[in-house]
Amino acid sequence: MTDVDELVRRNRSFAADGFRTDLTINPRGHMMVVGCVDPRVDPTSVLGLALGEAAVLRNVGGRITPATLRTMGMLGEVGQARRDGSPAQPWNLVLLHHTDCGMLDLAAFPDLLAEYFEVPVTELEPKAVSDPVRSVQADVGVLLDVLRGSDFFVSGLVYDVATGLVDVAVAPTPVRLR
Ligand SMILES: [Zn+2]
Repeated sequence: MTDVDELVRRNRSFAADGFRTDLTINPRGHMMVVGCVDPRVDPTSVLGLALGEAAVLRNVGGRITPATLRTMGMLGEVGQARRDGSPAQPWNLVLLHHTDCGMLDLAAFPDLLAEYFEVPVTELEPKAVSDPVRSVQADVGVLLDVLRGSDFFVSGLVYDVATGLVDVAVAPTPVRLR
């Protein structure tokens, strides 16, 4: 088991080598990534994100649920409050789903999934919890609908835990033109 002493040791090394004081609360990559909590698929590692480059949200499956949307709304307010006067730029919103996701095991618990997505059990099929390509396509569709009128590009990636490679399932798609 990794213990806290070990984390503190690693932190000392980070503070000595990787720490920067010039970072802002608004990610300099104008990027938000939504990914799964699975420890194998940490977006920071698999997409090579630098500290301060992207906001990263993680939940079970990396799914766009009403709770995810509420969190994104709150982050939008924080971003507005901390605007540093730089000109507004479009945001890249990247969804990262993956193969062998624990969501597959949850397919046997439709009531739990219905609660998670805040939909009736009869409306779970389009959430495609057993297929990462379809699920990321479905969630991109939700975002394109919900964010209509805002300056975002939304894309959907699928990470293969067997190869370490991502595939672009949905290329960056502008929201505001829809
Ligand atoms: Zn997962």
